[in-house]
Parts: sequence; C-alpha cells; structure tokens
Amino acid sequence: MKYIDQIEIKGKRVFLRVDFNVPMDKEGNVTSDKRVKASIPTINFALEQGAKLIIASHLGRPKGKRVAEMSLKPVVKVLSGLLNKQVTFLDDCVGADVEQAIGKMKEGEIILLENLRFHPGEDKNDTEFARQLAALCDVYVDDAFAVSHRAAASNSAITEFVPVCAAGFLLKNEVEYFKKAMVNPARPLAAMIGGAKVSDKIGLLESLIEKVDKIIIGGGMAFTFLRAAGYETGKSLCEEDMLDTANKIQEKARQKNVIFLLPVDAVIAPEATAEAEVKVCSVNEIPKEWIGLDIGPATIALFSDALKDVKTVIWNGPMGMFELAPFSKGTFQLAQAVADSGAVSIIGGGDTDTAIKKAGLSAKMSYISTGGGAFLEWLEGKTLPGIAALEKKG
Ligand code: AMP
Repeated sequence: MKYIDQIEIKGKRVFLRVDFNVPMDKEGNVTSDKRVKASIPTINFALEQGAKLIIASHLGRPKGKRVAEMSLKPVVKVLSGLLNKQVTFLDDCVGADVEQAIGKMKEGEIILLENLRFHPGEDKNDTEFARQLAALCDVYVDDAFAVSHRAAASNSAITEFVPVCAAGFLLKNEVEYFKKAMVNPARPLAAMIGGAKVSDKIGLLESLIEKVDKIIIGGGMAFTFLRAAGYETGKSLCEEDMLDTANKIQEKARQKNVIFLLPVDAVIAPEATAEAEVKVCSVNEIPKEWIGLDIGPATIALFSDALKDVKTVIWNGPMGMFELAPFSKGTFQLAQAVADSGAVSIIGGGDTDTAIKKAGLSAKMSYISTGGGAFLEWLEGKTLPGIAALEKKG
C-alpha cells in the first residue's frame, strides 16, 4: 500500500475520500468537528504539495436519494474554519457541471462534493458510478478508515479506474497501529474486552485468542461468562443462548495457554440509575434481584495488576455502565492502568473512546481508532474491502 507522501500530487486532481459523517442538530449545524479534524493532516499536506483537492464523503444513510438534511454543505463552514481557507461546495459529486468546475481548479484549491450516498451506485460499489468518480481525478487518496469494512464505489471500485491510489495519513495510522497490535506486537499482548454483549464480540474473542497472551473480560458481557461458569448473576445482563459459546471460548483460551481473567467482584444495584442504592459484592454473592453494573475494587486491582507487565494492549468496550457515575469507576481506573502500564495501547472507537475522553486520558493512549465497526472487523481477521483495494494497487 502506498501513502500520500510517497506519490507525486503537485498540480494533480486529487480525489480524497474522507469520513465527514458528522453529527448535526435539527437546524443543520455540525455539533462535532472531530471527524473533519481527523483528516486535516492529509488535507493540509495535499494543499502544501500543490494538489487540486477534491474532497468526497458520505453523510448519514440517504439510501441513494437526495435528502436535504443529509447535505454536506454545512461542513464547508467547519472545514474552511479549520483550514482558514476558502472551500467551494458543489451540489453533486458526479456529472458535467462537477467536471467543469474541477477543470477550472488551480493548485492548492479545494472543492467539497455533495454526499456520495445521494447516488445509489455508491453503496452498491457500482462500476459505472465508480467510473464517473474516477473521471474527476488523476490520483485517488483514501482517508476514510471508518467505512473500510464496506465496499463502496468511492473506496473500492474507484481504485480500478484511477492509475495512482494511496492512503492518507489517518488511514496510514490505522494500518500501522493495527500492525503493531496484530501483526508483530511487542509481548505480552493483552486484549481487554468489555461492553454489553458476548454475541457482538464472539468473532473478536475467537480471533484474539489466536494472537494474545492475556484476555481481560469486563462489562455486561462478563456476566454471561460468569453465569456459564455456574455463578448466580441476579438480574445482570446475561445472554442465555451464549452460555455454551462462553464456555467454549474459555476452554479454547485454556488450550492455547492464554490467561483469561474474569471479574471477581462487582458493583451492584437494584436498578440501573444514578440514584440507585449501590453495594459491592463478590461475584458468587450477587442477590437475585440485583444487577452487576461495574467491576468491583478487587477486580480493578486484579486487572490493573495484569496490565503491569504487558507491552501491548488492545481495548474495546467499557468495564461497566460508565455513563452513570456510580458505575464508571472500573472503566476510568482501568483507563488509568492502561496509561500507567506504558504499553502500546490501541483503543477501539465508539464507547471506549467516549469513556477514555470522560476519564481525561485520551492523550495517554497510543492510538484511538477512528473506525468502530471497521476496527472490530479487522481485529476479527476479516478483510476490509477499502484496505484490500489499496493493497491490490501495490
Ligand atoms: P458495546 O457497544 O458492546 O461496547 O457496549 C457498551 C455499552 O455497554 C455501554 O453503553 C455500557 O453502558 C454498557 N455496559 C457495560 N457494562 C455493563 C453492565 N455491567 N450492565 C449493563 N450494561 C453495561
């Protein structure tokens, strides 16, 4: 795979696929510029090199139709504010008018195209639509890791029609940290997995068992493992149909000599609210009507200790219902333990990212992935079409 700093882009029409799938309020104001910021290093580099920069993204799920609330137009203000530079918006992403506007571009100028998903061909990875997109440019650059797990015309088929294709810096970081975690990690390598459901993470656990030295399980999903091991878990989250699977996963860990840690105590409450009465108990003492909503202090100590000697840690999923203060301690203290371990820390996006930010520890992590679903599928060992398309180009 080539990166943007390994190709010639001066004076070239560069089609940059980004993830500007930003959240918006009802008035159409962008409420977080995080995703736009994530592509700024690539954008600035392309502009400094004298590219004619054509930026394309999806927003929401308009299902192949023009939906006014899903226009990318509001992003123009955000992007031009961050770059301190004029950004021209085109109200489509293919066609004669778009080609004409691009034909008039000068080096260092930026055009933002309208939502790719207004065309049905985008999500279908349609060859004809990809050909139309490819006609706009000389060079293709992909910086949209978050959609790499879905083959779309703008991240897959397009690469067949553009001679020079490369990854931007955001994608480069994702690729390099993934390799640090899964291809040649510094060992011991630990995976800390939490969140709500075992069923969402079976593929992940099965794939990780083949690679890691330790697996640490917290969050709601831990109770399915505990239940499978014969504990009464009260009203804690438990997927009855996953008990067998949970036992099999643990058995496989044993066979592979992977250290497999489950909580030994829990913070419990009769209901999942911030005002509920809270107790700590051992996992074999959870009363019938109570719910385990966080790992307890003995588990925090056990897990933190297990992280002390690791050289690489992959973390996906909170240790408890961290959104409510009484159940946030496990997640926050484990975030601190990851930071203190000095290990290379690779964090899955989504809830884990939110929790680490709440704990004020984002800067202490080595890498926080920008793609929740894509990151998980990659860790599961699946091929990501967006990455594969670039790799095919050499
Ligand atoms: P996931 O998207 O699978 O990573 O799940 C994240 C969600 O799991 C968060 O919203 C947490 O509140 C929730 N969660 C974590 N631990 C528990 C628990 N013990 N009981 C219920 N929900 C939990």
